[in-house]
Amino acid sequence: MNTLKFNLAELLHAKEGESKQFYFDEKIPDFEPNVEIKSNLVGSVNFIRIKSGILAKIKAKVSANIICARCEEKFRVDFPLDFMEEYEERDKISKDPEFARIGENGEVHILPKIQQEIQVLIPIKPLCKTSCKGICPNCGKDLNQKPCFCKPVDKKSLSPFAALKKLKK
Ligand SMILES: [Zn+2]
Ligand SMILES: [Zn+2]
Repeated sequence: MNTLKFNLAELLHAKEGESKQFYFDEKIPDFEPNVEIKSNLVGSVNFIRIKSGILAKIKAKVSANIICARCEEKFRVDFPLDFMEEYEERDKISKDPEFARIGENGEVHILPKIQQEIQVLIPIKPLCKTSCKGICPNCGKDLNQKPCFCKPVDKKSLSPFAALKKLKK
């Protein structure tokens, strides 16, 4: 699959400031264990010839299912992407070894950077809604659907000091 690879050999021969725009609407593979990509990646990339190589301006959108940290249900999120990335020509020496490179034959592969950008947007503790009630730690019921009849956990009775008090009595 040639997903999101662009041949820019022509643009590399052009003057600085010249640009070329592409639109895409492509299926991208899942790449994160708890993120299920549910839509095509739709957007555009504008490649601009700069001194050191190519500057890519990427605007795109993709949606995915992720898992709520409280109730463990899947829910849908949109990831809007809007970022720039520089791709250096192979023969230019950069101080930064992590710098994205232009491939042989002038090929630029934007998917790895897009995946990185999505990773940044994934919340550390995703919540299906801010008011999500989560799962009862006692009976395991999803409290968004129905309240359970478990007694609310009494924090005082759990503390070791409470136990000590009892002993002292
Ligand atoms: Zn939830
Ligand atoms: Zn319960």
